[in-house]
Amino acid sequence: MNSKELIRINDEYGAHNYHPLPIVIAKAERVWVWDVEGKKYMDMLSSYSALNQGHRHPYIVDIAKKQLDKVTLTSRAFHNDQLPLFLKKVCEFSGFDMALPMNTGAEAVETALKAVRKWGYKVKGVENDKAEIIVAANNFHGRTITIISFTTEEQYKDGFGPFTPGFKIVKYGDAEEIEKAITKNTVAIMVEPIQGEGGIIIPEEGYLKKLRELADKNRVLLVLDEIQTGLARTGKNFAFEWEEIKPDMVILGKALGGGIMPVSAVLSSKEVLGVFNPGDHGSTFGGNPLGAAVAIAALEVIENEKLAERANELGNYFMDQLRKIDNPHITEVRGRGLLIGLELDVPAREYAEKLMEEGLLCKETHEKVIRFAPPLVITKEEIDWALDRIKKILEG
Ligand SMILES: *Cc1c(COP(=O)(O)O)cnc(C)c1O
Repeated sequence: MNSKELIRINDEYGAHNYHPLPIVIAKAERVWVWDVEGKKYMDMLSSYSALNQGHRHPYIVDIAKKQLDKVTLTSRAFHNDQLPLFLKKVCEFSGFDMALPMNTGAEAVETALKAVRKWGYKVKGVENDKAEIIVAANNFHGRTITIISFTTEEQYKDGFGPFTPGFKIVKYGDAEEIEKAITKNTVAIMVEPIQGEGGIIIPEEGYLKKLRELADKNRVLLVLDEIQTGLARTGKNFAFEWEEIKPDMVILGKALGGGIMPVSAVLSSKEVLGVFNPGDHGSTFGGNPLGAAVAIAALEVIENEKLAERANELGNYFMDQLRKIDNPHITEVRGRGLLIGLELDVPAREYAEKLMEEGLLCKETHEKVIRFAPPLVITKEEIDWALDRIKKILEG
């Protein structure tokens, strides 16, 4: 079947909750994908940073295939021989004491919210049902009803109420606003170190440090959603390393699954994750042996191939070159590592469509920003290949 027919079937039988570019991918390898007709494209979106290790990394695929021949699912009613090793690996990788495995990012965010609330009641001593969590405007943490309860994107909420109470939304990047919002009932501050979906918004230097101080002073937990920024994307294993702080809790997803499986996790201390008792929380697929084996391999690739260093070096090079592009509509090129946003004063969708025709897949975010976030295994030559096309479209 050709692309056109497949898109027609998709539109007929699938709910229209996405507006994808008109390309039907049938094959992929590393930074490249091929459509049904055999045309080759470079993937500059990486499934929103879920493909940091590239498409079908041979080491991860090999581990996945071997695990498929052993055991794939046990549920948490029984132990399996991969989960303990994954838990140890992800804790050592991140420097936290304990992990709780889930599947998707949104599930891990929900888990984090439950954990900090319970910590608030059982450890901090907040009065029952009074817990408050401070979040930032322009955030993206997923799509469940509780999570969209504190989005500031009207479309994400329209038609989906009633919503979950207990959240205070303050301006992103302004620590004073957070300080003002803290009360005796505040249990946590949850932000993204860089707002990815929000348009690659990088807070002023020192923001996370100030949040760390405020959290310490007020006995509030600092929770960072690193689902998109974590796992080497910004040039460090975690974006919080740029400010040399350690949050009380970090949420991982996306690239933790090595581009193969949905694997997410919440990492924290024994004091916080220790609040969960058997029966409090769970997931049938969370911690499954296939996902656990894949996630171990995904973390090993990040370490062995020094993906954080690569992202840092190549990201700086990429941004330097993007800044040389001559187009009066470009208002800013910003980013960290290989999480890069090119902001325009005109809608970006048309540029994304033209770049697709040139063989470069990227997507607009927040209407006027083109996001460039290739797999971290990309080479400098491949970035140059992309730059040639970007220049052609943006300068043309
Ligand atoms: C993608 C994303 C999520 C949600 O992850 P899903 O796997 O799509 O549920 C949450 N937070 C951030 C920062 C993300 O980028």
